[in-house]
Amino acid sequence: MSEGRIVKVSGPLVIAEGMRDCNMFDVVRVGNENLIGEILEIHEDRASIQVYEETSGLGPGAPVVSTMAPLSVELGPGLIENLFDGIQRPLEAMRQKTGGNITRGISIQALDRDRKWHFEPRAKAGDHVKAGDIIGVVWENEVFEHRIMVPIGIEGTLIDIFESEYTVEETVARVETKTGSGTRVLDLTMMQKWPVRQGRPFKEKLAPDEPLITGQRIIDTLFPIALGGVAAIPGPFGSGKTVVQHQLAKWADADIVVYIGCGERGNEMTDVLMEFPELKDPRTGKSLMKRTVLIANTSDMPVAAREASIYTGITIAEYFRDMGYSVALMADSTSRWAEALREMSGRLEEMPGEEGYPAYLSTRLAQFYERAGKVKALCSGERIGSLSAIGAVSPPGGDLSEPVAQATLRIVKVFWGLDYNLSYRRHFPAINWLISYSLYEEKLRDWYTENVSRDWVKLTGDMMRILQEEAELQEIVQLVGVDALSPMDRVTLEAARSIREDYLQQDAFNEIDTYSNLNKQYRMLRLIMSFYYKAQDAVRAGAEIDDIFSIPVRERIGRAKFVPEDKVSQVYDEMEKDLDAQMDALTAKEDS
Ligand code: ADP
Repeated sequence: MSEGRIVKVSGPLVIAEGMRDCNMFDVVRVGNENLIGEILEIHEDRASIQVYEETSGLGPGAPVVSTMAPLSVELGPGLIENLFDGIQRPLEAMRQKTGGNITRGISIQALDRDRKWHFEPRAKAGDHVKAGDIIGVVWENEVFEHRIMVPIGIEGTLIDIFESEYTVEETVARVETKTGSGTRVLDLTMMQKWPVRQGRPFKEKLAPDEPLITGQRIIDTLFPIALGGVAAIPGPFGSGKTVVQHQLAKWADADIVVYIGCGERGNEMTDVLMEFPELKDPRTGKSLMKRTVLIANTSDMPVAAREASIYTGITIAEYFRDMGYSVALMADSTSRWAEALREMSGRLEEMPGEEGYPAYLSTRLAQFYERAGKVKALCSGERIGSLSAIGAVSPPGGDLSEPVAQATLRIVKVFWGLDYNLSYRRHFPAINWLISYSLYEEKLRDWYTENVSRDWVKLTGDMMRILQEEAELQEIVQLVGVDALSPMDRVTLEAARSIREDYLQQDAFNEIDTYSNLNKQYRMLRLIMSFYYKAQDAVRAGAEIDDIFSIPVRERIGRAKFVPEDKVSQVYDEMEKDLDAQMDALTAKEDS
C-alpha cells in the first residue's frame, strides 16, 4: 500500500503528495479517521481526491492510504429492499451501528455478512460454465429470485456445488479453470464486485424494437419509451413529477426498480424515503420495495457522494439486467448530480464551460445513459435483459435552455415535458403533448401493428395531428371566436377536447384508471377517434354540429376510462354500436 500526506483541503477535495504509485480512480482512506475518497487526478506524485465524507478537521500532514482498487459495488443477495448511500453504504445498518448520525470513517460492508440465504443450485458438478451462467438462485423475498451468476472473467468446469444456507462470503461452488500451465480451482461465492465507473460487459446490444409498457396512456400511445430506452422528464415543482415517477415505478413492465435520489434539500429525499416503502406493488399487493433498490443522498452527505451515486445505481441495475430481468432505473435528479460535478470541477480549478459546468458534462451524461439498453447477456446460452433509464432534470426556474437540460435532451430519445400550466388546470398527468417527443415511436410502429392492432399507427397519427391542429385553431378562436370556424374545424376542436379529457387525462388515484393495458388503450383510442371520423361524415352529410356534439353516447365515452379491463370488450362493443347508430340516425335525418 502506498501512503501519502495531505497538503491541502478544500471542502470535499483533498490534495495529497507521495501518491506516485496510485492510479486514477483508486479508492483511498483519508486522515486518521479513514474517510473514504477517490482519486480524480494524478500529476506526478500529487493526487486530487474527492472525499465522500465531511472533511472538517482534516489538515495538512494527515495520512492518505490507497486501497489500490477502484470504487466498486458489491453485487449479491441483500441488494433488494435495501437503501444505500451514493457509495453503497447500507443506511439502515449504518444507523444501527452508529445510532442516528452517520459517523465519519465508518467501515461497513454493503451486503450483510451474517445473513444466510438459501442457495438452490441450477447447475451440477461436471458442467462447463462461463461468465454470466446462472449456477443457482436465491429467493431474496417472496417475489424476487436472485440469480447467482459466474463472475465475469471466469470459465471452467464445476467440480462441486452445494445446496444449503450460506452467507454471501461462503463458498457455494468450486470451479476448475485452465491457467497457462495447468489448472486452478476457484471458490465461487454468491457475491461479486464490479467497479462502478465501468459498464458491465454483454454480448450484444439489441435494437430498441419493443416498448416498455407503462399503462400510462399518454406515454404508451403517443410518447413511448423502448425497452432499454432512455427518457428524460423535467421536474418543475408541483407539476406532478413525483406522481409520474411513482406511476412508472409501480406500473412499468419492469421486474426491478432502481431509484437513485439526489435531493438538494434534505426533505426532498426524506419524502422519497418515506413514500417509496409505502407504495404498493400492483403485481403482488405487497410493498414495492420487494423489487426495489434505493440509492439516496440525503442532505447531510457531501456532494461527492452524489456524484458517485448514479454510477453506483446503474452498476447495480446492470447486474440485474445481466440476470435477464427488465430493470427500470430512475435518477432524480440529474441536475443535482451535475451540480455536484460542477462543484468538484470548480475546486479542481478546471477551465469552466457554460454556466460553470465542466466541459465534460455532456460526455459524462452520455456515458451514463449509454449504459442503458436491451442486451444479450454474457452467458453460454441466450439470455436477454434490459435496462431502461429515466432521468429527471430540474433546472433552476424550470428553464430548459440551461446546460444540463440541453445536454440531456441531446442524449435521451424520449422527453416527457411536464407542464406547470397543465397541472394548474388539473390536467394530469401534466405531460404537454406539444413539446414532448419520442424518437422510438417510429421504430416501435411494427411492434404496435403486430401486437396491438393494424390501425394503431393511423389512429395515433391522427390523434397527434388533431392535437396539433387544435393548438392552431385555438389561436384563431382567440382572435375571432369559435363561431367563425367551419363545421369541420369545430369537429376537430371537439375531438381534441375529447382526446385531452377522455383519453390523455388519467387519474393516478383511481383504482381502475391508474393503469390501462394496451388492449384498453387501443379500444379507447378507436372509440374516441371513431367519434371524430363519424362526426366528419355527418358534417359532410349536412348534419347540424350541435346535434352531432349532443348524441347521447358521448357522455358514456367520457366515462369509458373507468370501465374495468375485463369488461372492456363488451362495454366498448356496445358503445361503438350505439355511436354508429346515433350518428347514422343523424345522417339519415339529413338524407330524408
Ligand atoms: P411535484 O412532485 O412535481 O411537486 P406531485 O407529483 O407531488 O408534484 O403532484 C402534485 C399533486 O398533483 C399531487 O398531490 C396530486 O394531487 C396531483 N397529481 C399529480 N399527478 C396526478 C395524476 N396523474 N392523477 C391525479 N392527480 C395527480
